[in-house]
Amino acid sequence: MNLVVMKFGGTSVEDAAAIDRTAAIVAGRVAKGKNPVVVVSAMARVTDQLLRAAAAASEGDRAGALAISSRLRARHRDTAADLVKGTSECAVLVCTIDQKFDALDEVLRGLAAIRELTPRISDLIVSYGERLSGQIVTAAFRERGIEAAHVDAREIVITDSQFQKAAPLDDVIEKKAQEKLLPLVRAGKVPVMGGFIGSNEAGQTTTLGRGGSDYTGALLGGAIESEAIEIWTDVDGIMTADPRVCPDALRVKVISFEEAAELAYFGAKVLHPATILPAVKKNIPVYVLNSRNAACEGTRIISVAPHCKSPFKSIAIKKKLTIIDIVASRMLMSHGYLSQMFAVFDKHKCPVDMVSTSEVSVSLTVDSNASLPEIAADLRAMADVTYEGRKALICMVGEDIRGQNGIAAQVFNAIRHINVRMISQGASEINMSFMIEEDDADEAVRSLHAAFFKDPDALVFDVAARKQLTADSTQ
Ligand code: ADP
Ligand code: ASP
Ligand code: MG
Repeated sequence: MNLVVMKFGGTSVEDAAAIDRTAAIVAGRVAKGKNPVVVVSAMARVTDQLLRAAAAASEGDRAGALAISSRLRARHRDTAADLVKGTSECAVLVCTIDQKFDALDEVLRGLAAIRELTPRISDLIVSYGERLSGQIVTAAFRERGIEAAHVDAREIVITDSQFQKAAPLDDVIEKKAQEKLLPLVRAGKVPVMGGFIGSNEAGQTTTLGRGGSDYTGALLGGAIESEAIEIWTDVDGIMTADPRVCPDALRVKVISFEEAAELAYFGAKVLHPATILPAVKKNIPVYVLNSRNAACEGTRIISVAPHCKSPFKSIAIKKKLTIIDIVASRMLMSHGYLSQMFAVFDKHKCPVDMVSTSEVSVSLTVDSNASLPEIAADLRAMADVTYEGRKALICMVGEDIRGQNGIAAQVFNAIRHINVRMISQGASEINMSFMIEEDDADEAVRSLHAAFFKDPDALVFDVAARKQLTADSTQ
């Protein structure tokens, strides 16, 4: 079998036209003798809207919550009707959609009465996004001659019970995926399932965290040892910066697992940070591709990327961070002090991104976190603590940054007009990061991009696309 996991993000299934393009891409793979396993996200913006409905219901706004659900019902029904023309097939699909929305409305009504939104209920509510898109995409594929079979992801992606950010149980997933997906593929079918969602061993619905459909794709690829994992999205691949911030960003043609993981962790939204892990374990190449421009070859992520002459491959931004300054007059570096301090973060399950220490103080950055007041209160038992939000981390990723003389001077010269609060270099050979005010972040990325991607290495970056763009704009 030539197994390939193809994950399509929210924009790739956002409406009938997008699902049509997605079907054509999958049909193209089948025609080439590949055996796709398809993973889909909820239609674009649906997860956010479901979360809004949940929040409204939990505040007692029953009518508001049901109004959001009703708009979503209409959007899903309309998309289904546009895609499936056969009268009986369409009626079955619309009936499935209605049943799901009836069940969702039931949950929202209950929530509006109880007014307590637990992480478990939140996961149940958002799971409808992927459960609906999975059904619609399956029907649309069948209508277009692809022998698709819908699979409920919750029967395969078994996780622990950490609702909203559940950890997958790899061994169980491997067994289930092989038992449930491979027989379908052997029978000539294309399994289609929702990403992001799973269930714990008690059968309760869980999710893998926001953006988690990429992770589902990678987990399945690892479980069935596919020959490739394809992440189809709305940009040409991993770019040298977020193209929304830096319009002249270039496509990175090839990048290593390690570099891609670093970029994803430090904010490049194009990949969920955990995506690379299953691929590394089984050494499966990951491709990031554009469903709106399927002819583009995208980005290939592999274990060892070719040597690149440019110092950096890409620049990521992670916003909404908080900096915490911990100052103790003595004893800061005394034995056991740092471990006591980190124990506080551990207790509140709050990951720390960057750390910098001086003789009497430690500065740390964390994702803006609802438990910050509690964390600060616990830390105050050992030192003076202040914290400040609206910070951004800029992370520059490239090969062997540590080994290049003068690189830090070039970076800080490019952003000399911007105030830098914290710097980290050396923890990893491939990453150099610093913290600035969130309001300065976009400008910093554009300045760094202008400085470091003037003359990019054509082996690694899509320089031809830039030349084409320049030629077009001068005509
Ligand atoms: P999907 O819904 O397909 O999962 P996402 O919105 O999660 O798509 O990720 C794609 C978006 O990631 C792009 O539209 C782009 O704005 C953003 N992005 C951030 N950094 C990068 C980068 N370095 N390269 C490409 N895209 C990036
Ligand atoms: N639908 C989920 C989200 O919006 C998962 C995903 O799209 O990857 O976070
Ligand atoms: Mg995504």
